[in-house]
Amino acid sequence: MNLVPARSRPEMRERTIAIVGAGLIGTGIAYELAKRGASVTVFDRAEPARAASWAGAGMLAPFSEEMPDPAMLALCRASLEAYPEFVAELRERTGLDAQFLRHGTLHVALDERGLHDLVARAAAYAANGGEVSVLDRAQTLEREAAVSRGVAGSVFIANEAQIDNRRLGRALVAGCAALGVRFEHTDEFALETDARRVRGLRSKRGFVAADTVINAAGAWAGAIDGVPLAARVPVFPVAGEMLAIAVPHAFARALIWHGHTYLVPRSDGRLLVGATVLERGFDTRVTAAGLSALLGAALHAAPSLGTFAVVESWAGLRPGSPDQRPFLGATPLEGYFVAAGHYRNGILLTPITARAVADLVLDGRSDVALGAFAVTRTISQRGLTALEALAAAGASANA
Ligand SMILES: Cc1cc2nc3c(=O)[nH]c(=O)nc-3n(C[C@H](O)[C@H](O)[C@H](O)COP(=O)(O)OP(=O)(O)OC[C@H]3O[C@@H](n4cnc5c(N)ncnc54)[C@H](O)[C@@H]3O)c2cc1C
Repeated sequence: MNLVPARSRPEMRERTIAIVGAGLIGTGIAYELAKRGASVTVFDRAEPARAASWAGAGMLAPFSEEMPDPAMLALCRASLEAYPEFVAELRERTGLDAQFLRHGTLHVALDERGLHDLVARAAAYAANGGEVSVLDRAQTLEREAAVSRGVAGSVFIANEAQIDNRRLGRALVAGCAALGVRFEHTDEFALETDARRVRGLRSKRGFVAADTVINAAGAWAGAIDGVPLAARVPVFPVAGEMLAIAVPHAFARALIWHGHTYLVPRSDGRLLVGATVLERGFDTRVTAAGLSALLGAALHAAPSLGTFAVVESWAGLRPGSPDQRPFLGATPLEGYFVAAGHYRNGILLTPITARAVADLVLDGRSDVALGAFAVTRTISQRGLTALEALAAAGASANA
């Protein structure tokens, strides 16, 4: 790899940094490192920003997720707060607007029992920091006229947002390129190490030396060849299917019901309907059962959608982690870092992950609290170490 001189950090030793994975997490980290003057190459075997980062819905909704985990909630909230500046700076640098919109999220209840449950959950949304209001039937229809006339009421969370993640991916790739980050297509490769530290990456095309390698390989992060057992992470794929209906201006904001089913309007006139949650290995087929479930739920919530065209369907692989926290930071192998396992919140967590991992790589520390996300943590939920969880995840992925 060629080295470019450090720009903003004259004291920084020149170093070669390789990132595996050009999703939002990998390109976000590359962007942040390059802004601080580092020389970075991003390796991917596919097109940049096309995997889960392209497939996601772009909801930035930490309160709707009902996270019981204070560390994860704090990280998600910090990332949501970082978003406006992150996107504005990227727009200034590239001319590409990723459309961060803080229009709030509306949780609708389609019957009285659902409303009872929803109102009970509203206290938890508020306790987590959501700006919550409970709306009756008339107020709900006034806000979103396309909702079923049978709606019983809703809960509105005003301080949640959304981003067009496909645009964000394009903007980050352009931002990286503008800062001199190189993108390399690679097929199979393996991490090369000595007894103590990482040395680089070896592929069919030869050896690329790197004194820092960051694994940002999304759902594949647990399967990078050549990684010593002690530095591996138990990340596994969780498939999600989605579809889009061409229906301009049906809704002003993201609409959620039955927990995991949602509608997200895009400015290009598509209404996204998501998403299934399936542990079935690295399978990205869109199934008839998945589409049927999504369409059935969407038409139940908004029957008027039935006359519009379905224009797209797709599936992606969320990078799952046994305790639903990402793995962020250094590993027992010197020079080898991980930023993976963001599961349902990787789009939300892109700005904070980019900053925190760049801090760790360049300064060895970060003011973002990362202890709960350490690669070597005990997976407390199931009393397993990361290594034991890796074995368990391998067993379930093959099931
Ligand atoms: C249906 C669905 C809906 C979602 N909705 C939301 C949402 O509303 N809000 C939210 O915050 N998050 C959401 N997510 C989750 C979010 O999309 C992910 O957490 C996030 O995109 C993960 O980003 P990533 O960069 O880690 O992984 P990816 O985007 O998957 O990128 C990983 C990259 O690594 C590359 N790679 C892997 N292995 C190798 C290898 N060996 N060599 C070279 N390259 C390799 C891949 O080709 C890929 O480009 C959703 C996900 C799905 C699937």
